[in-house]
Amino acid sequence: MIQAPKGTFDVLPDDAVRRERLEREAARVLGAAGYRRIETPAFEATELFTRGVGEATDIVQKEMYTFDDGGGRSLTLRPEGTAPVCRAYIEHGMHKLPQPVKLWYLSSFFRAEAPQRGRYRQFWQVGAEAIGSASPETDAELIVLLAELLEALGVRGVKLTISSLGSPETRAEYRDELRGYLRDHEQQLSPEVRGRIDLNPLRAFDASDRGTREVMRDAPKLLDRLAPEDAEHFAQVRALLDDAGIHYELDPALVRGLDYYTRTLFEFSSDALGAQSGVGGGGRYDRLMELLDGPRTPGCGWAAGVERILLSAGELPVQADVVDLFVSLASDDVGRTAFSLALQARRAGLNAQLELAGRSLRGQLRHADRIGARYVAIVGEEGTSLKNMETGEQLELSPNEVIPTILRGSRLS
Ligand code: AMP
Repeated sequence: MIQAPKGTFDVLPDDAVRRERLEREAARVLGAAGYRRIETPAFEATELFTRGVGEATDIVQKEMYTFDDGGGRSLTLRPEGTAPVCRAYIEHGMHKLPQPVKLWYLSSFFRAEAPQRGRYRQFWQVGAEAIGSASPETDAELIVLLAELLEALGVRGVKLTISSLGSPETRAEYRDELRGYLRDHEQQLSPEVRGRIDLNPLRAFDASDRGTREVMRDAPKLLDRLAPEDAEHFAQVRALLDDAGIHYELDPALVRGLDYYTRTLFEFSSDALGAQSGVGGGGRYDRLMELLDGPRTPGCGWAAGVERILLSAGELPVQADVVDLFVSLASDDVGRTAFSLALQARRAGLNAQLELAGRSLRGQLRHADRIGARYVAIVGEEGTSLKNMETGEQLELSPNEVIPTILRGSRLS
């Protein structure tokens, strides 16, 4: 039997209804702040991600679905949304539009990861990017918008952590300082951390062994090394979040190893999720545009996992579909009349379904009841009888009287 590939899933109708709700909320929350929808292709030139995500990242090193398009060009299924949106910004000359350009997307992404609950090989993200503004209000507004979206969707146990990365230059100096500090305390570190002092000293903050943790408690923090203008930017973002009543924790160890990340960094997690607790996150990427050969343009954005949101949101109240009319057939000979009645009903704006399964009349009525139809029209050779399923009332009508009768009924009820 052929099954869905490992790490992928089908979105079945009940789940699709919850996703539609998420999409509506995203359009409402982000639309109110002037964000407009963008969709980019599901695959891009591989180079966009090697440059725009970074050669040294797990994503680029291990997780990309890359293939040859047959003409010697290397393409990759998109693993994330920021680089494609920035590519589109450059390609369409969006720097000529009023800045910042505020965009949002809801798309599927692809990463060859080991699947587990909340981690898939094809997954969906809702994301927002504001390109062309360096103001701290942009960062704070983006954070508030994600907080509001999660709240509107009833995501439980949400925690927000924020930090600032300063500039790549500050970070390089800081990394040297941290390397020196780690070498001075080498004896107390786990062998794993010791082995990575040169390659990635920041990872030491994530270590769980006691020795390393003790050393890291007193380690120099990047937040204390920020250049004055970066520290001021971060202070403003925090003040704006305070004003907005958004609770957050400072996490000086929150890091992203990408060189183009600058200043604000944030992450929302939910304790309703297991090991994969990250719901969404993002930050400022003032150096990314240049890496993609665009003009130097500041930017900030986030992405949140749709599956993680839905997993941590519990039950989302969704409205059941209304069925105004079910058209049933009293005999095999009235097929054309019944077909036309259902069609006319939909053209008149009603939700109308036609019997398609060849059920007995009793079976048809049972089915109409099961789908919650408000009316059933039983089309016969002599005429049509229209049954109001709520009251049980039944009228004998000619086929062209059916729709006006339902419409009158809808208006009265
Ligand atoms: P990232 O682009 O890695 O910062 O991820 C942003 C958000 O996307 C995460 O917080 C998750 O909610 C979601 N996400 C990332 N990778 C996956 C995955 N493999 N499966 C499901 N959701 C994911």
